Amino acid sequence: MGSPRQTNPMEIAWFKKIRKPKQAVEHRRVQVPEGLWVKCNSCKEIIYKKEVLRNANVCPKCGYHFRISARERLSSLFDEGRYQEIDTDIYSLDPLKFKDTKAYKDRLREYREKTGLNDALINARGTMAGTEVMLSDMEYAFMGGSMGSAVGEKMTRAIERAIEEKIPLIVISCSGGARMQEGALSLMQMAKISGALGKLHEARLPFISVLTDPTTGGVTASYAMLGDINIAEPKALIGFAGPRVIEQTIREKLPDGFQRSEFLLEHGMLDFIIERRQMRDVVVQVLKVLYNRDLVQAQASHAPGGETGRQDPNHPGREREGLGRTVQFPTTIAARKYNPPEL
Ligand SMILES: [Zn+2]
Repeated sequence: MGSPRQTNPMEIAWFKKIRKPKQAVEHRRVQVPEGLWVKCNSCKEIIYKKEVLRNANVCPKCGYHFRISARERLSSLFDEGRYQEIDTDIYSLDPLKFKDTKAYKDRLREYREKTGLNDALINARGTMAGTEVMLSDMEYAFMGGSMGSAVGEKMTRAIERAIEEKIPLIVISCSGGARMQEGALSLMQMAKISGALGKLHEARLPFISVLTDPTTGGVTASYAMLGDINIAEPKALIGFAGPRVIEQTIREKLPDGFQRSEFLLEHGMLDFIIERRQMRDVVVQVLKVLYNRDLVQAQASHAPGGETGRQDPNHPGREREGLGRTVQFPTTIAARKYNPPEL
């Protein structure tokens, strides 16, 4: 104590000014100017923002997929980026008068202003390579893409519309799960949507589920994993409960990459992992395999038990089991590759 030969610079700093400021200047130089440059969340490189935008919001250095808005994604999927937005007038009320740090109704108002949406889902109809499709796309910027009664109702309507119009359904998930501010009403949506998807399946219409970063909670536990084909973006976080909760429950360390697309693909939970730039092409390819528009329309126009003889006499309008001209999709082993097979 009191020795003039102190070795700890922090102690000297109380009395003498040491040369810290230079470091601070250096540090400031690394900071990213607002707007022009972005820092990749994965490789930490500073990249020119325009370069990222040109690259479908994917890091050109490491392939990290930046999160994009629902509308950006819709434009990238539909022909000429054009689509018709429907069910825009559905929104959540606040039946529980829920309040945490903020009142739920205030939160809703805030997010509506911020995103220009009524809730965390956009229903859109348009064509992909000429095939008409029904597409539901979740908006993460609206309360973390959480699923409340409005999201559930919109999703159900999208499914029912697909059945009515005999067109395929595509759902893009990006969600933190069920919305706690609506309690059990949010949880009920899982059953409601899954029930509607059962009807879509009975109508033999394809459902392609695209899982993006993140897809968690009640969304993973219901429709996101119910696709005829489940496609994920690279390195997307996909799971039910978060890793910390699981570790605490099972008292075990989880393996590396747990709950990421690549891990799930390896364990048979996904069919493909597809980069964003190829997503549209792959979805179109899958539609070609799973959906024969002419056949579906021909069946619809035939009377029950029509000339094809494929109709099930017990269920008018439905094909008899085993007689339908279902196109064979690649075997499970072939389908587990990172890239889809050549069609
Ligand atoms: Zn990167």
